[in-house]
Amino acid sequence: MSKIQELRIGWLYPTLMSTYGDRGNVICLQRRCQWRNIPVTIIPLNQQSDGATFEQVDLIVGGGSQDRQQEIVMRDLQGAKAEALKAKIEGGTPGVFTCGSPQLLGHYYEPALGQRIEGLGVLDLISKHPGPDASRCIGNVVFEITPSPLAKTLKKQLGKPPIVIGFENHGGRTYLGQVEPLGKVIKGYGNNGEDGYEGAFYRQAIATYSHGPLLPKNPFIADWLIQTALQEKYQTEITLSPLDDSLSEKAREAMLKRLDVHLV
Ligand code: GLN
Repeated sequence: MSKIQELRIGWLYPTLMSTYGDRGNVICLQRRCQWRNIPVTIIPLNQQSDGATFEQVDLIVGGGSQDRQQEIVMRDLQGAKAEALKAKIEGGTPGVFTCGSPQLLGHYYEPALGQRIEGLGVLDLISKHPGPDASRCIGNVVFEITPSPLAKTLKKQLGKPPIVIGFENHGGRTYLGQVEPLGKVIKGYGNNGEDGYEGAFYRQAIATYSHGPLLPKNPFIADWLIQTALQEKYQTEITLSPLDDSLSEKAREAMLKRLDVHLV
C-alpha cells in the first residue's frame, strides 16, 4: 500500500445528475478509502471543466437524472471532454454509471417528449422512453452479476455469487447491442422489462439502472472499483484491507427476505 498517493474520483455533473441518492455512491467510495487511509480527491466534471480535467481522474462516477437535466448534460458533453471521457472508458478506467448516465454513454436516448439526443456511443446500446403516458419501471431490483471475469473475481472475493440489490425508477428502456449485460434480473424490470438483462459492462465500466444508492447497498462493488482504479493507476497488485460490512449484510438479508428472493 505504501505506493498509493491518491485516488482521484471524477464525479459527472454533480448538481444535474444525482437522482435517488446517487451521490451516496461518491460518499461510499470516499469513506471506504478514508477508512483505509487512502487519500481521496473528488473532482467535479461539469460545464466548467475542460478535457484536461477529465483526463486527470482515476475512477468515474455518474448518477441518474431526469430527461430535462440529462438533455442539458448531453448537450454540454461534447468536444474535448467527450473525447477524454470516451478515452478513459476505452482505456480501462473503472467507473460506475447509473440510470441516466448509461443512457448518455450509449448511441442515443429518445426522451419522453422531444427529439432524440445523440450519446457518446462508447457503450453499444440505445435507450428509448415510450412516452409520457407509458408506465415507469419502478421498484426494488435484484440481479446477479454475470460477465466474466468480473463475476468470477467477485464470487471469489465473496465466497458466493455476486447478487446486487438496488432500486430502479426509469421511464427509458435500454436495449443492448454487442455490449455484455451487467447481469441477469432476478426481481424487477432491469433494462427494459422484457429481455431479463440488467445494465451493461464494458472494459471496466459498470452501467446499471440500480440506484439505492448502489454502492452502500453492495459494498463489494465499491471495493472492486477502488481496487481496480488503484491497480490501473499504480500498475501493481493491490489488496484492500477488509472492512466491517456486517450492518450492510444485515440490510441485504432483510431486503432479500422482504422481496421473497431465496438464493440457492
Ligand atoms: N431520464 C431517464 C429515464 O427516465 C433516467 C432516469 C433516472 O436517471 N433516474 O429513463
